[in-house]
Amino acid sequence: MSHKAELWINGKWVEGERQTELRNPYNGEVLATIGYASPKQAVMAIEAAAEAFQSFRQMPAHKRSSILYQAADLLERRTAEAARIVSLEAAKPIQAARAEIARTVQTYLFAAEAARSIRGETVPMDAAPRGEGRMAFMTREPVGVVTAITPFNFPFNLAAHKVGPAIAAGNTIVLKPAEQTPLSALFLAELFEEAGLPDGVLNIIPGEGKELGETLATHPDVAFVTFTGSPAVGRQIRSIAGFRKVTLELGGNAPLLIDRGFTETELEQIADEAATGAFAYNGQVCISVQRILVHEQHAEAFAGMLAERAAALQAGDPLDEQTAITPLINQSAADRLKGWLQTAVSRGAELLCGGEFDGSLMTPAVLRGVPEDAELSCEEAFGPVVLVSSFADWQTAIQQANRSKYGLQAGVFTKDVEKAFAAARELQAGGVMINDIPTFRLDHMPYGGLKDSGSGREGVRYAVEDMTEPKLISFRSGLYRS
Ligand code: NAD
Repeated sequence: MSHKAELWINGKWVEGERQTELRNPYNGEVLATIGYASPKQAVMAIEAAAEAFQSFRQMPAHKRSSILYQAADLLERRTAEAARIVSLEAAKPIQAARAEIARTVQTYLFAAEAARSIRGETVPMDAAPRGEGRMAFMTREPVGVVTAITPFNFPFNLAAHKVGPAIAAGNTIVLKPAEQTPLSALFLAELFEEAGLPDGVLNIIPGEGKELGETLATHPDVAFVTFTGSPAVGRQIRSIAGFRKVTLELGGNAPLLIDRGFTETELEQIADEAATGAFAYNGQVCISVQRILVHEQHAEAFAGMLAERAAALQAGDPLDEQTAITPLINQSAADRLKGWLQTAVSRGAELLCGGEFDGSLMTPAVLRGVPEDAELSCEEAFGPVVLVSSFADWQTAIQQANRSKYGLQAGVFTKDVEKAFAAARELQAGGVMINDIPTFRLDHMPYGGLKDSGSGREGVRYAVEDMTEPKLISFRSGLYRS
């Protein structure tokens, strides 16, 4: 791979203050030497973004929109190249990497549309006695400089959920990608330069989160911080960001409820979808299926179906079309999961399949009987592991699903409309997917969590709304009579 691996600041490549080797998590090969930004260089990027904002805020909506359309089109044409980058630096199976690029194209298209549909409303001033003779309306203005910090697991699409809405709204951006996935982010520099984005509107600074986080969240020129990643880091950002607007898209341990009354064929289909939701990209997905609650009528059969599917998944080279399971992002993720798995088993859980480790590779595991207070139940696994438990009563299942510090998305399979309504009303989550797995997401859906899963919503239009400030403009008439 030959990639520019410096920082992209104000439309120029700038050498990072120190160099780090980026290695392929699958085979340890060096992929590139990456320049890491220092806090001083993060300030440079923020200042470039603040300067660029002065003119970019005046760019008409149709021009911002057409830059985003152009970027979407360029990315679509370079799908194979972009997918290969994700596959190499994140060890994502190539099929999943291609699917991510296809979604990213959609995200930029939604952003292109959103740029042209930022609307306000009129305000009936004469509804108050003192408001007579006035006509008022609200407009939405860009907030200014947005800093965006992104995780490794969807390096193209989660960056797009920040970069797309920011540009649509007329803001300028400093993007800091995850340490493991800088090349996917730097790819955007080429893409947006070719699409005609003015210098300084998008700045990309690979670097270490803990070194740059404070600057990105507290510099006085920063108006908005948008973060996707782990709850621990999200909490820290929130605590230092002060009065700035902050969006936090954090983790989860998504529940899936499966009611009684399905035929075997239907259960098989649910098992197919649940296995995809639990094991796609080794479960390194914030809405990965983690806790499956199945009615006791189906629990035994369903656990068997799931274990069968888990055992059939092929592990191997991420670039191989047949591969479903790849090494976890790093050894410490594997060590953490190994410890949690051992604790669960020592506390009486039954391992139905998988759970073997070879370096950072973990074979997909299905467990039963995991205590509710074991880490595997109550923390975010973020690995290829799913727990199955049974229930006799729908209400109890809802309560159990809600006994979590997270609340991102929940999935429910039921044919009973009253149970569906009860789940929709009572499940504590940013989204409840009836007759779908919790892992189902479209890029224009409002998306975000409750509790430790974060605050704010993405889904392009919703992020654009957050990234703009409403302004009231009132016109008074009848003052000058002459
Ligand atoms: P992470 O929190 O370790 O890293 C995310 C980003 O934060 C990286 O860019 C990292 O460099 C940066 N960072 C680290 N320490 C920082 C600090 N002190 N200040 C500022 N930034 C810092 O997360 P990860 O391992 O890359 O990603 C996995 C996590 O992301 C999981 O918890 C997952 O659920 C979550 N996630 C959430 C969503 C969502 O939309 N809700 C989507 C994908 C992933």
